[in-house]
Amino acid sequence: MEKLYDVIIIGAGPAGLAAGLYAARAKMKTLILEKDKTGGQIVTTNEVANYPGSIQNATGPSLIARMVEQAEEFGAERKKDTVIDVDFTEKVKVIKGEKEVYKSKAVIIASGATPKQIGCPGEKELIGKGVSYCATCDADFFTGLEVFVIGGGDSALEEAMYLTKFAKKVTIVHRRDELRAAKSIQEKAFKNEKIDFMWDTVVEEIKGDGIVEAIVFKNKKTGKITEYHADENDGTFGIFPFVGYKPQSDVYKGKIELTDDGYVITDADMRTSVAGVFAAGDIRVKSLRQVVTATADGAIAAVAAEKYIENHFD
Ligand code: NAP
Repeated sequence: MEKLYDVIIIGAGPAGLAAGLYAARAKMKTLILEKDKTGGQIVTTNEVANYPGSIQNATGPSLIARMVEQAEEFGAERKKDTVIDVDFTEKVKVIKGEKEVYKSKAVIIASGATPKQIGCPGEKELIGKGVSYCATCDADFFTGLEVFVIGGGDSALEEAMYLTKFAKKVTIVHRRDELRAAKSIQEKAFKNEKIDFMWDTVVEEIKGDGIVEAIVFKNKKTGKITEYHADENDGTFGIFPFVGYKPQSDVYKGKIELTDDGYVITDADMRTSVAGVFAAGDIRVKSLRQVVTATADGAIAAVAAEKYIENHFD
């Protein structure tokens, strides 16, 4: 007979791992599904300074490793599979993975968000060839080279500061003349001598034959187009877009209530529009997307799922 889980958690970032820890600790038969690398966006972050209790120099990967260990210690099972469809119409929920079909009494969706692309010509073609969305993963390739960071939010500034440890110069390109990032982060970036800013500027095109060689900018106020070419000796440079994130919710379209831009709508107990289906972390509508709020969501969702199962299953 097919195994029936109490809770299946989709996504193994901080929200999913916290949900897994709470669910398994409550003795629920718990499965955490992850399509890719465990950890979600936080493993692409070098420094986690604002998670309470984080020790100095705590990195995204080290924090995730401890969360995984803790969830597994309590008995949460983990599998690598990509969810391609779900059926939430019956009391027992069905999750179709690429490898297997899974069944559970409750589901917690914690599949997070992925980096948005700028959307300019050349960007897609040059991913991994000078264009990167993960400073922690790729900064090393740009040791001694120039780097452009696109965006003006917390991610852009924090990752730009990290990149200064490798690059000879980092230029933050922002489409307005005022940053979106928190003031505390802005202050640090302004003090960093290796960081320059290009204001009111958008990227029109990225050029290169197999590797990034040039980038075309447009000043939004003056309309002036400028093209930056790689230094002759370097031959290339780096481009790191940090222009926000897109929720990974395509598979839930038409199955649970989403906003127009794809975020899952929940109540304060993480309940979605379908009974027995909960959501936690960056994928849901919320005002603050941080590790601390993701783990809190995960804990709340697991406890709410436990109550739901108690009330709806014998
Ligand atoms: P974000 O806050 O949405 O910022 C995105 C930035 O990219 C904005 O400056 C935006 O410009 C710009 N942008 C968007 N689309 C663009 C485009 N097509 N071309 C050029 N620029 C574009 O995203 P984020 O920085 O990744 O942060 C996401 C969430 O994570 C936030 O809630 C943030 O607070 C949080 N976070 C927190 C920390 C921390 O606390 N340490 C670290 C990282 C992230 P506009 O400003 O003009 O809209």
